[in-house]
Amino acid sequence: MDELISVNPATGERIGAYPVLSAGALEASLARAEAGFSRWAAVPLGERVQALERLAALLRSQQHELARQVTAEMGKRFAEARAEVEKCAFACDYYAAQGPGFLADETVDTAAGRSLIAWHPLGPILLVMPWNFPYWQVLRQAIPATLAGNTVLLKHAANVPGCAAALERIFREAGYPEGVFGNLAIRSGAVAGVIADPRVRGVSLTGSEGAGRAVASAAGKALKKTVLELGGSDAFIVLADADLDGTVEQALRARFQNNGETCIAAKRFIVEAAVADDFVAGLQAGIERMKVGDPMAQDTDLGPLARADLCDELHRQVTRSVAAGAVCRTGGQRLERPGFYYAPTLLDRVVPGMAAFEEETFGPVAAVTRAADADEAVRLANASRYGLGGSVWTRDRARGEALARRLECGCAFVNGIVRSDPRLPFGGIKDSGYGRELGLLGIREFVNAKSLWID
Ligand code: NDP
Repeated sequence: MDELISVNPATGERIGAYPVLSAGALEASLARAEAGFSRWAAVPLGERVQALERLAALLRSQQHELARQVTAEMGKRFAEARAEVEKCAFACDYYAAQGPGFLADETVDTAAGRSLIAWHPLGPILLVMPWNFPYWQVLRQAIPATLAGNTVLLKHAANVPGCAAALERIFREAGYPEGVFGNLAIRSGAVAGVIADPRVRGVSLTGSEGAGRAVASAAGKALKKTVLELGGSDAFIVLADADLDGTVEQALRARFQNNGETCIAAKRFIVEAAVADDFVAGLQAGIERMKVGDPMAQDTDLGPLARADLCDELHRQVTRSVAAGAVCRTGGQRLERPGFYYAPTLLDRVVPGMAAFEEETFGPVAAVTRAADADEAVRLANASRYGLGGSVWTRDRARGEALARRLECGCAFVNGIVRSDPRLPFGGIKDSGYGRELGLLGIREFVNAKSLWID
């Protein structure tokens, strides 16, 4: 029997096995999602809000055990796993409060007696999701999609089947009717078939560029709407007038939180030459102070990577960058211990053309690029195929804002770490994908904006 295997990345040990759905069971899930849709779409919005409130309460009351599941399956530090669960609950609160306003009819002045836009659900939406925030990535789509009256089918990453099962369970416990949230334990090879199924009305994917291209091609063939949140190589621009000590502290968090496995992590530190040596020295000292170890331990700063192959790929990127002339100031190797640990690494003198500049590095590797001035820093920041986020660090907030506006990305921050917030739209441009999650725009992605004209 084909099974999805959970492996604890801190030890390399197998901790669970989950059967892959048979063809018959997959068909039954699709049928439940379709039947569930016709019932759920007719449920009054107020009742859908109540279900969301129950979901928030359960996320909070089960925070500890839900977080343990995340840490066990993908190696995130336990404190961060708990914060992830709370963030999911906060997103429930936000949409429970704001959703009814977002979904209310919008009157438009025309020659009609009355004309308006009504927001109708589309049907079952497929969510193809990654392992790095196993609950947050799923729920930031599932919450608004289901509140709008859609049902969702989750194809989660193969290495977090326990988190996927926990999500299905918690929706059930929150009282969502059958078919509103379905977990499809399937291989990625089966995704195109699900997209082609006429019952599925849209697809949202978060993950790598390769997976994004595959899913968007399948969806294109089937004429299905897609939202893609793909990789990033965010610039973290440090201007000469920045508060250097504070900026170094934030740089460490921006790169190494979530073990470096975040799409909006700062990956390229672009530093004005006047302060580059001091910034590098501060970053190196901070990295060398980091305690690498058990993600369940409270004093751990950095846990393991989620899978052995991700560790190997990261090392190849570091090795290729060094071969091309980057200077490895610290780290640069896998750690000799059980599990999938990579030493926190600082690459200096990274320039365009090197792997650490051109590719997404999904792990604890900081790359520093020196820029003559702010204009060159922006040029370098924009010299990337990716366009997810970016940040500017300076004491001059007005200048910071002017530079942030010039960054080619979906979210730009001044003196703040790029993060997703349920109240603001989140997504990228260029090869980081398209469409938006969260906020008003997020709930409008999987709805039929229906014009009504009443003479
Ligand atoms: P993937 O993009 O391969 O996985 C994300 C999801 O897509 C998983 O559910 C996966 O399923 C599915 N998937 C993969 N390929 C296909 C396909 N051809 N058709 C349909 N579904 C597919 O990420 P990886 O785990 O392999 O990580 C590789 C790299 O991707 C990372 O190093 C990082 O650069 C990037 N990434 C970016 C993320 C982000 O937040 N933007 C999140 C995760 C990864 P399955 O697990 O079964 O293969």
